[in-house]
Amino acid sequence: MSKFACTCGNVISDVQCPNEVTGLLLSDKSLEAFSNAMTDTIRDYFQLAFSGQIDTWRDKHFNKAYPNDLSPADMIDDVLSSKLFELTLRVMECDVCGRLWVQEKPDVNFYHGYHPDDAADARR
Ligand SMILES: [Zn+2]
Repeated sequence: MSKFACTCGNVISDVQCPNEVTGLLLSDKSLEAFSNAMTDTIRDYFQLAFSGQIDTWRDKHFNKAYPNDLSPADMIDDVLSSKLFELTLRVMECDVCGRLWVQEKPDVNFYHGYHPDDAADARR
């Protein structure tokens, strides 16, 4: 996503990254799942690395098109970033009316809008 039309008429843009108007929503349940994924991914990487089986780890997480010249940090980051986006909802805040737009489900391009009761205190 790069631009989103708020019902107030403002256009929310995440073209500039990072920015102050978009983010991620992670439930407690998803946070626990992500935390477990971090621990499992890193532990699994080091166990296989110490036994000389990095290719086994790579095959578990990536297809054959994945570059084979990336650092361990970059590979682990790719695995964990993918997991994070599987578990989180995208959130946008209109910087004019303060409405929050929350993604319905991960990988679904539909957002529910929530308008603040105290509209006079909208962000700007
Ligand atoms: Zn708005």
